[in-house]
Amino acid sequence: MSLLRLNNVTKRFGGLTAVNGLSFDLAEGEIVGLLGPNGSGKTTALNMISGYLPLSDGSIGLVDETISGLPPEHIAHRGVARTFQLVRALPSLSVGENVLAALAFRKAPLWGAGAKAEIDTLLADVGLGGRADQPADSLTYIDLKRMELARALASDPRLLLLDEWLAGLNPTELQAGIELISALRQRGITILLVEHVMDAVRALCTRCIVMNTGSKIADGPTAEVLADAEVIRAYLGA
Ligand code: ADP
Repeated sequence: MSLLRLNNVTKRFGGLTAVNGLSFDLAEGEIVGLLGPNGSGKTTALNMISGYLPLSDGSIGLVDETISGLPPEHIAHRGVARTFQLVRALPSLSVGENVLAALAFRKAPLWGAGAKAEIDTLLADVGLGGRADQPADSLTYIDLKRMELARALASDPRLLLLDEWLAGLNPTELQAGIELISALRQRGITILLVEHVMDAVRALCTRCIVMNTGSKIADGPTAEVLADAEVIRAYLGA
């Protein structure tokens, strides 16, 4: 059974069809790249999967349940988490409080010592061990991204949607980021990754889906998709 199923998912903004009849399945444990030029509909697709945008047509299923039409927090409770292109930290709070705010969205909130232990584990998992008391506005860019990931992981997701999480990192940070995402995959989290950093896509994704002007133009093993003539023409450039 697939974990996520998009069936003919369409989003229209007035006269513009941003996502046009998009269908694909994700199997549990897969890490899949969602690629395409700017404006091809990738972020809109993530926004529909996570419930931030209603669909104009089609449906989205998680395991055996239809999730399209549910509010974002209900979709989050069913195990879908995401990061945003622009990191959404609460800068006046500490790193630990930022993660606590995300933990509070859980169905069964944790309090006191349980919450503190959970925060410490989440921060250690993303390479921010021991940094809970540091002010969030003192973090470097990569560490802010790590904190954003810890916040997404706070809901113990089955499916993680990463929106250009690796963008803007220097080569050393990029390598660390790739290792971090690989480690999440080892834990069995299914990941859909919107990404332009092709080295990361090659290192991480077993499969890629490519969009162009709202439609899917390729879907298959990464090496095959990246060698596809239409993908090269539309996205990678000759
Ligand atoms: P990508 O993530 O691939 O860069 P987007 O999903 O952000 O693409 O955008 C797809 C298309 O939809 C673009 O033409 C964009 O301008 C348009 N679009 C995105 N969001 C909105 C919105 N809220 N209102 C109107 N048009 C939008």
